[in-house]
Amino acid sequence: MDQPHALLVASPGLGHLIPILELGNRLSSVLNVHVTILAVTSGSSSPTETEAIQAAVARGTCEVTELPSVDVDNLVDSDATVFTKIVVKMQAMKPTFREAVKSMKRKPTVMIVDFLGTGLMPVADDVGVTAKYVYVPSHAWFLAEMVYLPVLDKVIEGEYVDIKEPMRIPGCRSVGPDDLMETVLDRSNQQYRECVRIGEEVPMSDGVLVNTWEELQGNTLDALREDGELSRVMKIPVYAIGPIVRNNGPIKRPNSIFEWLDKQRDRSVVYVCLGSGGTLSLEQTIELAWGLELSGQRFLWVLRRPISYLGASSRDDDDQVSASLPEGFLDRTRGMGLVVTQWAPQVEILSHGSIGGFLSHCGWSSVLESLTKGVPIVAWPLYAEQWMNATLLTEEIGVAVRTSVLPAKKVIGREEVASLVRKIVAEEDEEGRKIRAKAEEVRVSSEQAWAQGGSSHSSLFEWAKQCRLMS
Ligand code: UDP
Repeated sequence: MDQPHALLVASPGLGHLIPILELGNRLSSVLNVHVTILAVTSGSSSPTETEAIQAAVARGTCEVTELPSVDVDNLVDSDATVFTKIVVKMQAMKPTFREAVKSMKRKPTVMIVDFLGTGLMPVADDVGVTAKYVYVPSHAWFLAEMVYLPVLDKVIEGEYVDIKEPMRIPGCRSVGPDDLMETVLDRSNQQYRECVRIGEEVPMSDGVLVNTWEELQGNTLDALREDGELSRVMKIPVYAIGPIVRNNGPIKRPNSIFEWLDKQRDRSVVYVCLGSGGTLSLEQTIELAWGLELSGQRFLWVLRRPISYLGASSRDDDDQVSASLPEGFLDRTRGMGLVVTQWAPQVEILSHGSIGGFLSHCGWSSVLESLTKGVPIVAWPLYAEQWMNATLLTEEIGVAVRTSVLPAKKVIGREEVASLVRKIVAEEDEEGRKIRAKAEEVRVSSEQAWAQGGSSHSSLFEWAKQCRLMS
């Protein structure tokens, strides 16, 4: 009998591509199935996407093919957001995708799209792939909000941000105005309509794989599955198979980052990085710098050019970026902190014993990379679903402190930055100790979930049986 074959589809953007590449790697190595990944990339042959694909190909566990991108400018509103462009592009890829699947020598047993690619699901039926699943590389509360959105869309009038009471999602934590996904903030925008469509399409699949685990979000997972208002909307099985994150890669030495980290005390350094695309205003960059200095703690800062500098030069070199720091900052903090401006080896940094905290924008991949290393978080949410991630981390899981207001609404001052950093890395008060202990507890539970017979390990095998990838 032919080896079962899983076909995975990635949407454009590194934040969507990496989770699918990691899922493919996990399916191949754990289930021993053949994995093909069709990656729709950003179109402008993004070097980072190409590098990620090359690295995945070199690993040798999956076949990865880049699909030529289509132009969707005539299909989107003139003010279309990146989100809208991606989901519309995925729908417009149908003919190309259909031909690519038809021409495969080995017919797929199952197809998995990431949640931005649900528009491609009908192709599975056209080409006779009977089982189709959605991968949500985020958490269960996000999934709940997503699939419940079509209901909210019918019953709530006006903008969600204007309603006084937090929005109720049955069986889950309610969604307050500061937790909303960025895509639902303006209901007249095309991205909102696309979001509702995705919420309607997810339950048309045969099941959802979600990047969380039972011990982390048991209540929300129960609400999605057990008989109730939410599960009646969901209708399909939900498999919690997380955390799926990148493994540590080799570090090429000499490397100034790791040489510096090697010299620091255990758990003494706060790592500051706002994801692949997170940038701050110049004013916020300056306050953050002062805050790090004032905290008196060691720091490793992945600094990007501030937003207001974007037009200043096409170069993104060290001098350009460093010019946005307060005068004398680099001299005063020499030895105490390290500022880097290039792409940082984040997983390897978070694995280093000297890292004691992570000031993060709370993209879910960054969150999982931190939690699997037991590193507590200073939550600095910027966009997408990061606001709800910050709430989840602080109020439900208890592994983070967060800014008093959303950084998108107000500049966070230096005193507050210093206090948040100290709380996570240094303070011996009860709250800081509790958060660090909880982060360690979550690390252990994340390992157990993927140990032989652990919840996520079992869930993946259960899924594989259901879709006949295994007998
Ligand atoms: N990342 C990295 N080095 C950097 C910035 C980001 O390795 O300098 C990686 C990070 O480890 C994570 C991904 O980029 O895997 C960012 O994904 P996330 O979901 O956290 O946020 P996004 O960038 O999609 O908003």
